[in-house]
Amino acid sequence: MMQTIKEQGTPNLDCIHCGLCLSVCPTYLQLGSEVDSPRGRIYLMKAAEEGRISFSSPTFEKHMYLCLECRACESACPSGVKFSLMMNDARKAIRQTGDHARWERLLRRLVFRQLLPSRSLLRLNFRLLRFYQRSGIRKLVRASRMLRLFPKRLAEMESLLPEVPRAPRYRLPETPSVSALRKVALFEGCIMPELFGPVHEATVRVLGRNEASVCLPSAQTCCGALHLHDGEKTLAQELARKNIDAFERCPADFVIVNAAGCGAMLKEYWHLLGDDPAYAGRALEFSRKVKDVTEYLDSLGLNAKMGRLEVKVTYDDPCHLLHGQGIRAAPRNLLKRIPGLELIDLRDSDQCCGSAGIYNITHPEMAARILDDKIANIAQTGAQIVASGNPGCLMQIASGLRARNVPMQAIHPVQILDQTYQAWDLEKV
Ligand code: SF4
Ligand code: SF4
Repeated sequence: MMQTIKEQGTPNLDCIHCGLCLSVCPTYLQLGSEVDSPRGRIYLMKAAEEGRISFSSPTFEKHMYLCLECRACESACPSGVKFSLMMNDARKAIRQTGDHARWERLLRRLVFRQLLPSRSLLRLNFRLLRFYQRSGIRKLVRASRMLRLFPKRLAEMESLLPEVPRAPRYRLPETPSVSALRKVALFEGCIMPELFGPVHEATVRVLGRNEASVCLPSAQTCCGALHLHDGEKTLAQELARKNIDAFERCPADFVIVNAAGCGAMLKEYWHLLGDDPAYAGRALEFSRKVKDVTEYLDSLGLNAKMGRLEVKVTYDDPCHLLHGQGIRAAPRNLLKRIPGLELIDLRDSDQCCGSAGIYNITHPEMAARILDDKIANIAQTGAQIVASGNPGCLMQIASGLRARNVPMQAIHPVQILDQTYQAWDLEKV
């Protein structure tokens, strides 16, 4: 398996420099500069690999981290270049050789090693945040304009945060019911239960309507995608091993994910752990079981006992569902089956929204430019709801809608399915 950019052999061999990826790359579209295109980044990686520039050079780091890892270039590439694998290794090399400020190293250690893998710390963090939002402190802070005293970045992060909902109300067993027709395990993720508990609740209800017994292995942890994309490959591998251990104890046929970024990561554990003799085969077995919730439901032939929803919906493809997992039709198929629902095409739905993990925090200006185009296209549809299957995209789009006063809701497709099943119950009363 591949360890370094060179061993992958891709920069100069697989890339034929055709440039077909340029017109789909969000940073190239915004800046028009070759070094901020996939092809230009590949040239830079090759130069670093050959020692012509340093992995620790600020210029190299800037162009590598300006990439959103949206993987649109992979979908466009006729040569099958696995750009994201190369980018992950380039970032790992940057982290290993770069001379980063002490505060930055401490912050990264805190977030990646302590916070993200710990459900209890995350829960505490989000409870405090919920208190801040609900107690009136936030109103006071905003009215007092106190945020102007802090770095601009902090104020931007504050405005991106959605309302922290109550803790999700599902209690799931560690293993699925033996007698159930379909046995699945839910991948919960790190921030999903804290910020998107209602999506998990809807997922559990919709799976139940489709005769699936859902369980929740309690030892599972963060998928490691944020770590990997930030160059922390070793940490991502540690988390992958923990998840494989946790799900192996559960006799489910499939691992269901409702966050596209996590799903793409889980489906690639086989590659991430390909050099680990103790885990390579187990990782492959695990990755084969992973299904996005829309992919799984579409493969079943959906329970058609649905109530009418007279609503106009448009759908935005999460990059890590479309380019990372090749799933385009499934969510649209499901939405089209809902009686009364009108699905409106979204222009450039395959273009990134600018969320990209923590990109909208690390690169707010570029993220905002990309988001502007996305919101303009969404607003043009005249829909009431924009559906998308990834928490980062939902947060990013919702913040763009709020900021531009577009009266639309951003929700997960599974929440719309949940609504149609609830409508069926009401119609039958
Ligand atoms: S991953 Fe996305 S942003 Fe990065 S080079 Fe490819 S298309 Fe451009
Ligand atoms: S589309 Fe593929 S082969 Fe062509 S320039 Fe881009 S990465 Fe290279």
